[in-house]
Amino acid sequence: MSISEKLQQIVKTLPPGVTLVAVSKTKSEDDIMKAYTAGQRVFGENKVQELVGKWEVLPKDIQWHMIGHLQRNKVKYIAGFVTLIHGVDSLRLLREINKRAAQADRIQDCLLQVHIASESTKFGFDQAEIAEAMEIIKAKQLPNIRVRGLMGMATFTEDQAQVRGEFRFLKSLFDALGKGDETFNILSMGMSGDYLLAIEEGSTMVRLGSSIFGSRNTP
Ligand SMILES: *Cc1c(COP(=O)(O)O)cnc(C)c1O
Repeated sequence: MSISEKLQQIVKTLPPGVTLVAVSKTKSEDDIMKAYTAGQRVFGENKVQELVGKWEVLPKDIQWHMIGHLQRNKVKYIAGFVTLIHGVDSLRLLREINKRAAQADRIQDCLLQVHIASESTKFGFDQAEIAEAMEIIKAKQLPNIRVRGLMGMATFTEDQAQVRGEFRFLKSLFDALGKGDETFNILSMGMSGDYLLAIEEGSTMVRLGSSIFGSRNTP
């Protein structure tokens, strides 16, 4: 199946209200243009340099999402154009994003990443930190930041019950933290292997790479 056929098949499985981020990391500009021509406008990358390079040459109506771990010293390269930053995992990073967004005269939409997996290699706030972080964010007045919701990655396992439990936990945090805030309305969870489960558990944004573009060559 071609990229555009795979994309169209996936889009059919998404209920209304679920946004598809096409994860194009390691993929060529040609491949991205195939998805673009089929109607896709939201793309996700996990490396700043690759993101900037693609943004420079590809159509300007693409909405670029930074989905990977973001280092503070690289925020300045993307602050002028990036639509959504998924992986915010510290207040120091948030302060840097606020500063660079202000310089670019933008309000930057961000998601806080929560560590829901059992693997320690994945990034994110833990359960104890996240509520506190939200309080500080509200009090600190970061005028150029808008926290739109949460992002999480489930454990890489065949155990569906475990994955479901992790998504359910993230959804409950999302509901609790977002009470009374209409702009806190994005729950980014679900990748190629687990996105249908994530949607069942309340995801509003799925990040799919290999199921659209095929498997990645490890760099
Ligand atoms: C690579 C990546 C994805 C997409 O993974 P697939 O399994 O290829 O769909 C989603 N989210 C993040 C944070 C990623 O780094």
